[in-house]
Amino acid sequence: MKKGLLIIISGPSGVGKGTVRKYIMDNYNLDLSYSISMTTRKQREKEVDGVDYYFVTPEEFQRNIDADNFLEWEEFVGNRYGTPKDKVEELRNKGKHIVLEIEVNGAGEVLRKVNDDRVISFFIMPPSVDALEARIRRRKTESEEIIQERLQKGKKEMTMTEQYDYIILNDDVARASQEIVDLIKKKLKEGRK
Ligand code: 5GP
Repeated sequence: MKKGLLIIISGPSGVGKGTVRKYIMDNYNLDLSYSISMTTRKQREKEVDGVDYYFVTPEEFQRNIDADNFLEWEEFVGNRYGTPKDKVEELRNKGKHIVLEIEVNGAGEVLRKVNDDRVISFFIMPPSVDALEARIRRRKTESEEIIQERLQKGKKEMTMTEQYDYIILNDDVARASQEIVDLIKKKLKEGRK
């Protein structure tokens, strides 16, 4: 059986990676599975443990690092985030397509580690830095200090796009999603040749 695709959706905090990813999963029949990350970040009000993330203590996260349970993990503005590796491998080997929604350093690590050709990576770009800031603020989940840190980090991330296959402008969720879906379908077709 052909390995499932590994689809990396990356980009600055607040750019709308999650919104695009959910839009694609809700509106298209691509049969994608989302890889739920583990994090030490505090759970936000609307988030569900085991759906949005596995929320764990720093100790539990460290135990998972020690047990070599992560495909990659990174520190991001004071918290740790990691992709559990067992599910990714198991599901891809069953032909399932897996979506990772991760920041740039983690994406780089995955791209270096996973060296089969069934990987496709996207960097989601905001229309402007102002639009990114407005979006982070609208979320009303972070303190001013963290907002500034995320914004600085985001600006840096926007200069680190060479590692991705495609840069997608998130000017409109439906349009950006369609662009990604078309590229995934093209990749799937290539795989059938
Ligand atoms: P947030 O706190 O806004 O949910 O996430 C902060 C950043 O970490 C976002 O860019 C998000 O995509 C990224 N992130 C989420 N899960 C992971 C992961 O497992 N690994 C890495 N490297 N980044 C992640």
